[in-house]
Amino acid sequence: MNLTADLTGQHVLVTGSAAAARRAVRRYRSAGATVHTLTSPAGFTPGLLDGVALAAAVDDGDAGWAVLPVACRRHRVLLVREKAAAPGGQVTLVGGGPGTEELLTARALEALREADVVFYDRLAPHRNLDRLAPGAELVDVGKRPGHHPVGQARIEQLMIESARAGHNVVRLKGGDPFVFGRGGEEAASCARAGIPVTVVSGVTSAIAVPAAAGIPVTHREVSHLFTVVSGHQPLTSEEHEHLAGLGGTIVVLMGVGTLPQLAAGLRRAGMRADMPVAVVERGYSDSQRTTVSDLSGIVTAAAAARCKSPAVLVIGEVVRQAGSCRAQAAQLAGLAGRLEAV
Ligand code: SAH
Repeated sequence: MNLTADLTGQHVLVTGSAAAARRAVRRYRSAGATVHTLTSPAGFTPGLLDGVALAAAVDDGDAGWAVLPVACRRHRVLLVREKAAAPGGQVTLVGGGPGTEELLTARALEALREADVVFYDRLAPHRNLDRLAPGAELVDVGKRPGHHPVGQARIEQLMIESARAGHNVVRLKGGDPFVFGRGGEEAASCARAGIPVTVVSGVTSAIAVPAAAGIPVTHREVSHLFTVVSGHQPLTSEEHEHLAGLGGTIVVLMGVGTLPQLAAGLRRAGMRADMPVAVVERGYSDSQRTTVSDLSGIVTAAAAARCKSPAVLVIGEVVRQAGSCRAQAAQLAGLAGRLEAV
C-alpha cells in the first residue's frame, strides 16, 4: 500500500546506523520534517517517541531494534520500515535519454532512487530530480554550448571526492553516456582513482530525436546504414568525402554551429544538391520543431528559422519518410482514440 503524508514541520525519528540511514534522513529532511536520529538500539528510550509523528526504522541488520515496534505500538506512533541505503563509494554513469523523464530506463530510475548525490547535465531530464532521487543532493554541472559552468576536470574531481566520502554517486547525462558525452573519460578517471564505476546506457538523441520527428534512421530499401557524427568541430574534406561516399543516413549532433561548413563540404564531396536534410530542435519538448530542406537550401532555411542548439541534423533519403511516418502515427493515434471511444 502507498500512503502520501505531509510531513512539513512534523517530528520524525529515523533509526539505524548512520550509513544505512543516510538516505532516509535526507529524504525526510527534504520533505520538510524535523528529523531526529538514533544510530544504535542501545540508546533507545521510549521518551524519544514523545511528540514524534512517524518513526522510520532503517534495517541495518541489528537485532536490537526489536524494541522499537513494541514501543511505537504503545505510544501510537506510526512505524515505517525502510531498506538500508546501498553501500556508497561508487559512481554510476547514467544515460538520461533525450530530455523526457519517460525515456529513462528502469535501471536509470533505480540508480537515481539509490543515489546520495546526482551531478546532472542540462540535456538530461532534470526537472523532477527531487522526486526521482529523493535522498540525493542535486548538483547542476550543466553544460551548454560554449558555456561550461563546471569544467570537465572539476566534474571528474567532484565525482571522485564524493565517492571517496562514501557516497553513491550518480552522474546523469543526456542521451547515452558513451555517445559524445565524455562518459568514457569520466569512467576512465574514476577507474584510475580506484572508484568502482558502472554504466547505465540511455536512449541516445541520435536515434530518438529523429524518431520524434517521424524520421527512421534506417528504412528498408532507402538506407541500410547510419553514421553518427559530432559537428562540434568542422569536419575535414577527407571526412566529408568519406561521409558522402557511404551513401547512408548521416546524423549530426552538436551540428547547428557548423552546418554551413558541413553542407558546403558534402556538396564539394559530390553529394546531390537535392539530398533531403532535417534539423530537429529540442526533441521531446513542447517546443520541438523540425525544419526540412535539401542540401543546397538547408543553410538558408535554418538561418531563416533561427535554428538553435540542441538539435539533431539528419541528412539522407530517410528524411522523406517523416511525412508518411508521422501520418501513420497520427492515423494510429486517431484509431486508438476511436477504439477508446467505443
Ligand atoms: N550523449 C548524448 C549526446 C550529447 S552531445 C546522446 O546520446 O544523446 C549533445 C547533443 O545531443 C546536442 O548538441 C544535440 O545535438 C543532441 N541532443 C541531445 N538532446 C537533444 C534533444 N532533446 N533535442 C535535440 N538534440 C538533442
